[in-house]
Amino acid sequence: MSKVILTAERSLMSDYNGALFLGFMSTGPTSMIPQRLFFRLIAPPVKEENGRAKLAPYGTRKIEAALLENGFSEDEVKVVNPDKIEKHITKETKIVGVTTNDPLGLGPASSTFSGETGFVNQPSYNRVKFEELMRKLRRFDVKVVVGGAGAWQLEEERIRRKYGIDVVVIGEGEKVVPELFRKIIEGEDVPEVVYGVAVPEDEIPKIRRAAIGGIVEIARGCGRGCKFCIPTMRRLRSRPLEDILEEARVTARDKDIVTLHAEDVLRYKAKGFTINKEEVLRLFREVHRIVGKVGISHFALSSVASAPDVVEEISEILELPNKEQKWLAGQTGIETGSPRLIEKYMPGKAKPFSASEWRDVVIQAFQICSDAHWVPCATLIVGFPDEREEDIIKTIELVEDLNEYKSLIVPLFFVPANELGEESRFSVRKMKSYHWELMLTCWRHNMKWLKPLAKDYFEGLPFASKIFMKKFIDWVVDRVSKSVEEYILQQIEITR
Ligand code: SF4
Repeated sequence: MSKVILTAERSLMSDYNGALFLGFMSTGPTSMIPQRLFFRLIAPPVKEENGRAKLAPYGTRKIEAALLENGFSEDEVKVVNPDKIEKHITKETKIVGVTTNDPLGLGPASSTFSGETGFVNQPSYNRVKFEELMRKLRRFDVKVVVGGAGAWQLEEERIRRKYGIDVVVIGEGEKVVPELFRKIIEGEDVPEVVYGVAVPEDEIPKIRRAAIGGIVEIARGCGRGCKFCIPTMRRLRSRPLEDILEEARVTARDKDIVTLHAEDVLRYKAKGFTINKEEVLRLFREVHRIVGKVGISHFALSSVASAPDVVEEISEILELPNKEQKWLAGQTGIETGSPRLIEKYMPGKAKPFSASEWRDVVIQAFQICSDAHWVPCATLIVGFPDEREEDIIKTIELVEDLNEYKSLIVPLFFVPANELGEESRFSVRKMKSYHWELMLTCWRHNMKWLKPLAKDYFEGLPFASKIFMKKFIDWVVDRVSKSVEEYILQQIEITR
């Protein structure tokens, strides 16, 4: 019987019918789509096989792997669906480990679209599901340990008490969790907040079972040095190719896609800011030999602009476009059209180019992506502490210049970290008329591209989900869009 049960809040425990980018919707307000429909049609639960979740978030898989590499047996550790967790907790269970990305809805996307600071003052799906899981776990005599990208939101004692959390693990957990769990099982005292340590690239444990979205991490960290980023991003660590391929093989047993994950997939094994063409192409070629479909999580526009030939050759390797994969979508950060803000808050963002070239870098990168059948899902950041009207106007002009390129551009509120401080958190109440104008420009851009993108993206969904999502997108573009525009225009007037 398992001493350790690993799970995640329910919006992370879904493969989104293979349409991983729909996971973004879990940051939206729960009034958007009734929860029953949302969690049945858009985010159905992962299946279980022999009492274990067939897929799980990549972070959960990493902790599972770390435990198995450090003396825990398969029988002692089990990854399960949170909906059915009560079935799995027995009197032998000592620990329930929970992965969460955004437990209180304070991340950039949730705090923009939902909750007290966002456009709709309703909690996000991810927050509701995290709270629901914590309530459920209170009924059991187990230690609740929470980790994951959003664990920083639970650092305060008051919050941990409120949710009945015994230990929070902040940062990379692979090195610290096995010892922590061993101590808990043996009844030793442990700190209530544990800080992870950066794991060297060749010591990152290899997942034993497939992750949601077919995620396989190729590199950790970044090194571009944005002032609002977390410390573990300071150094880029690229994993050995053999470890990546092993995870790709494990993934291919249950998924028809491997999604390569890094903050910038193009900087795999990069030397500084110079793209390592040979290693990047080798990576894509080798992974493509294992699985027919290869996706990417994130890429940097400056890397695209500095290595257009690599982008083009990746598309050739993946044979884009093809029947299964019309394009390659990835998240990327434009963040601003203002070179002043780039220089002030994101000193390495444009490298190898200079901050003053940022606008041209972005436009050139969108052009290169368009030629190579890549679709940028780009973010903007609004509400930097020292932001001025002229910065936002430059961003509006940049978004207008990108109108011809198939893409999505999503403005998100600034979320402070490190030295920038909590008081600088942005909210809908702080928005000025020029912020609303930027919202309008982005809204129009997205409404132009949403239908054609959705048509391709939802192609492989199960019939009921496809029909539901098609109707939902048609409703948004054909009906809601007009009301949203009218609302934004009103806000522009009110805040002028
Ligand atoms: S680009 Fe900036 S915000 Fe993004 S991971 Fe790198 S340092 Fe962090």
